[in-house]
Amino acid sequence: MERLRPVWAEVDLGALKRNYARIQSYTKAELMPIVKADAYGHGAIPVVRALKALGAKRFGVALLEEALEIKREFPELELMVIGASPEEHSDTIVRENIIPGIFSFSQAQALAKSAGEQGKTARVHVKIDTGMGRIGYRPEEWEQILEIAKLPHLMVEGIYTHFATADHADLTFARKQLERFQEVIRKLERRGLKIPYKHAANSAAILHFPEAHFNLVRPGIILYGLPPSRHVGQDAGLEPVMSWKAKVTHVKTIGAGETVSYGRTFRAAYETRVATIPVGYADGLRRALSNCGEVLVRGQRSTIIGRVCMDQTMLEVTKIPGVQVGDVVTLLGQDGEERIDPTEMADWLSTINYEIVCDISKRVPREYVE
Ligand SMILES: *Cc1c(COP(=O)(O)O)cnc(C)c1O
Repeated sequence: MERLRPVWAEVDLGALKRNYARIQSYTKAELMPIVKADAYGHGAIPVVRALKALGAKRFGVALLEEALEIKREFPELELMVIGASPEEHSDTIVRENIIPGIFSFSQAQALAKSAGEQGKTARVHVKIDTGMGRIGYRPEEWEQILEIAKLPHLMVEGIYTHFATADHADLTFARKQLERFQEVIRKLERRGLKIPYKHAANSAAILHFPEAHFNLVRPGIILYGLPPSRHVGQDAGLEPVMSWKAKVTHVKTIGAGETVSYGRTFRAAYETRVATIPVGYADGLRRALSNCGEVLVRGQRSTIIGRVCMDQTMLEVTKIPGVQVGDVVTLLGQDGEERIDPTEMADWLSTINYEIVCDISKRVPREYVE
């Protein structure tokens, strides 16, 4: 569709593919790209299509809805729901051959029952909570996994855990989690249960915790070219995949003492050039950036002045000559020698780059380039 409002997010599928190849060079394990939350805001379907072309066969999502959306487009792919899947959806999970993460006997029973009725075998991955404290069997409950494995029409294809601090420089706690996970696996194997897939590594663990790779890894944020934290991935050779742009809709000069936007929180100290862009907090440009965030205009940094509105934002461009209506403003990405990455924007907001890209709303059309 033709773009009506001049605001868009550019998704560079070439950069995505180079990131994937780079990640594969760090591990011998199979990659299961994590494409939850619409591929961290990048668009799940185009992202999956691009990675499938590089040979990715198995993808991870957080929700059953997300798995179904991808299955509809790519029925041949393996989709795993890494989060919790409600028991009442067992029929759908089995019918669509989706692989759920499970961590209770009743969940396993419901899946086995659905599989029996459909004349199929349900494949599951058992989640172990080794210290994240979110979902999963506690390590001391390991014998319950043997009970699950005995159910008819059900196959324990995988076992997995998730690290709470893999993105820290100090991996002491992550090592503790890994030991607990290995101990569970050892006990199960001693009792004769062989599980084909074992996985634990998120992006940070892929980059600096190779002992945790096993035979499958779950890269998320690094696929999109962003470092998992200030301690990990800064020099991993990743390229940010998404940029965010808008075109100037209005330029004017205001006199000393005049104010800009709701609440009059910006007051001009001198004659000031002001440019307006048609993007606001409903697009994911956070209101907390009022009077402090920066954007790039004509290759230079410009400050957001006044409050960010729902659909519009004003910029100080006094020292940037020649700004005119139609100029492309870069909220995220490169313009000339300057760049602003989601990690920098996240720092202004005391949050993480993950939240910045996920927050760019559906109202901002994604444009795919390669
Ligand atoms: C989101 C998620 C991942 C991916 O995490 P990144 O830090 O983005 O690599 C991996 N595993 C699980 C269980 C997750 O929830």
